[in-house]
Amino acid sequence: MARRYVIVGNGPAGFAAAETIRRDDATGEIRIVGGEAVGFYSRPGLAYLLTGAMPEERLFSRPESTYESAHIHRTVGTVQTIEPRSHRLELADGEVLRYDRLLLAVGARAVRPAIPGIDLQGVVTLDNLADTRHILRLARRAKRACVVGGGITAIELAEGLAAHGVETHYLMRGDRYWSSVLDPHESELVEERLTEDGIRIHQGVELASVIGRKGRVSAVSTQTGALYECDLLAVAIGTQPRLELAQAAGMETGRGIWTDATFETSAEDIFAAGDAAEWLDPVTGKRGLDALWSVAIEQGRVAGENLAGGSRVYSRPAPFNVTKIGGVTTTLIGAIGTGGRDGDLVTMARGDSSAWREQLDAFAVVSDRGADHLRLVLSDDLIKGAVVMGNQALSRPLQHLIRERVDIRWVRDRLFRGPAEVHHALAALMERTVSLGAA
Ligand SMILES: Cc1cc2nc3c(=O)[nH]c(=O)nc-3n(C[C@H](O)[C@H](O)[C@H](O)COP(=O)(O)OP(=O)(O)OC[C@H]3O[C@@H](n4cnc5c(N)ncnc54)[C@H](O)[C@@H]3O)c2cc1C
Repeated sequence: MARRYVIVGNGPAGFAAAETIRRDDATGEIRIVGGEAVGFYSRPGLAYLLTGAMPEERLFSRPESTYESAHIHRTVGTVQTIEPRSHRLELADGEVLRYDRLLLAVGARAVRPAIPGIDLQGVVTLDNLADTRHILRLARRAKRACVVGGGITAIELAEGLAAHGVETHYLMRGDRYWSSVLDPHESELVEERLTEDGIRIHQGVELASVIGRKGRVSAVSTQTGALYECDLLAVAIGTQPRLELAQAAGMETGRGIWTDATFETSAEDIFAAGDAAEWLDPVTGKRGLDALWSVAIEQGRVAGENLAGGSRVYSRPAPFNVTKIGGVTTTLIGAIGTGGRDGDLVTMARGDSSAWREQLDAFAVVSDRGADHLRLVLSDDLIKGAVVMGNQALSRPLQHLIRERVDIRWVRDRLFRGPAEVHHALAALMERTVSLGAA
């Protein structure tokens, strides 16, 4: 009898898993249940939709026919309960589905601070396409907006609102932007660009409450009693993996849904992957949590293979993100955390990795050429992480050198001798790696 696979969540982890299952099991019945009415789309692309740099159609990289041609059934609906013992789940409309193998690829949702007035109309978060459409509608009428939070999403919200002519105030609780991941100079580069784009930055501001008029936000008040008038408040203080289905079904959870390195959860025949999964690294004994597009795809692929009967163990690649932060193209790779505590985020941001917080016995080398910035994090023999801002010529080579753990000892001294020498040394490393690979 054909095996029945059910995947909850139509994001990159769920979609990649479905395609992998189909590759490995030609006859299995695959059903994806997704809470959003639309098919698979790029969530990182929502930032470009918000600024108007990209039309909505371009978010959809796969035509709707992809599901049909791979014989993947798509159901629009919300899964409300899972019964692990009877291998059944129930949707909000009462439909009951049976599964042999189940994947929870339910992602994470934006967290809201527990302050008075947070549920007023005009307070927004950015999780999905529906949120983006909603924000765009509000931005057409809004005159003044406040943005609170950190990481990539806070900046995307601020830039998106400013692009629509809304007077935008970015209220930072801390004293600099994304201080847990960026160093002070990197934060400054981003803040300068935001200011150039007309965004007003206020540091050391902590919200106390949201004030409303006729049910709509009209201002925010701060812990020091200051008032900032606004008709829109955008909140990006972090994300929380969706745990409620797993917890109600009695599965083990922590910050995310606990899995082993094959993405199997504590419940029989149930797997989890993507933003929702907190997996155990058998090598370090530590649990990892990521909120990265490329990681969700890779985890979905590994989970898909294992749902279909495989036993592949996930090996975390050096997490990377290539994105625009305040208009500056930025690549973040590997272990780059500064060890700082970021007052603007209460949990992990989007486009973020728990690996970026790991503290290493490492040296940072900074090498700037005009507007282009490079930070390398070095151990004795490896490049452990890198931040590349502006010119991206070194982004791919560095991804390779970090991921492949290329020994740098023979050029290490040269990396401390200024920008020109850093570039020559990295080129020499790449050349040697390529020629060794070809030999
Ligand atoms: C605005 C924004 C910008 C981002 N920028 C970047 C970036 O620059 N770089 C980067 O690497 N990453 C970025 N990310 C993060 C990246 O998109 C996520 O890491 C990735 O989408 C996670 O994939 P996932 O499949 O685990 O979950 P998601 O993509 O969140 O998909 C989960 C799906 O499950 C559905 N679902 C949840 N519960 C249920 C239920 N009970 N029943 C049915 N369906 C359910 C949800 O509706 C959703 O469609 C960004 C995300 C956002 C929102």
